[in-house]
Amino acid sequence: MAIREILKFPDPRLREVSEEVRVFDKNVKMLTEDMLETMYEAHGIGLAAPQVGVTQRVLVIDTRPKEEGTHRYTYEGMTELEKKVKQPLVLVNPVIVSGEGQQTFDEGCLSVPSYYETVERYLRVVVRAQDIQGEEFEFETDGLLAVCIQHEMDHLEGKLFIDRISFLKSQKIKKQIKKNGYPKKKVNRKDTLSKEPASSSSKDPVR
Ligand SMILES: [Zn+2]
Repeated sequence: MAIREILKFPDPRLREVSEEVRVFDKNVKMLTEDMLETMYEAHGIGLAAPQVGVTQRVLVIDTRPKEEGTHRYTYEGMTELEKKVKQPLVLVNPVIVSGEGQQTFDEGCLSVPSYYETVERYLRVVVRAQDIQGEEFEFETDGLLAVCIQHEMDHLEGKLFIDRISFLKSQKIKKQIKKNGYPKKKVNRKDTLSKEPASSSSKDPVR
């Protein structure tokens, strides 16, 4: 296993549409192992292959509670549907079969570090995907896991969460990053692809 470099906006590779995985060989296995290690090392809860420069339709996700004391990451905070899904999740060629309802969440992204914006997503989704052997499976989920899956699936289309906010705000953030880069001081990315502490768990309609 190896930690791979996470690309950051405005890297043009993040804008490519990823290709379907057709060959389920040891390269896919190795890619997902590296992605999991990279995600955990960066304290993220989801990572898409294009974020490490591989334009293939592969995601890894783990929204389970990580540490005591981080208020969002408690087992009790997970919905019943989330608890039923075995994690870490490796999704190859994922498709949202159906989505319903809506929820908002203050999202962040390992490819846009230190920025958090409220994004609207489906509340509940049915997802179909393949595992690393190419075996197809389907499940239903909601809560943070549903948010995370939808966020990561956007990466496969070359889309970022900062494309899903108001046009003016989006332009402002993109210009700011292009001009000044990212903040130098090390930010606490523990909750990346989630939110800043104390912001949204009370607003979160799922909880
Ligand atoms: Zn992301």
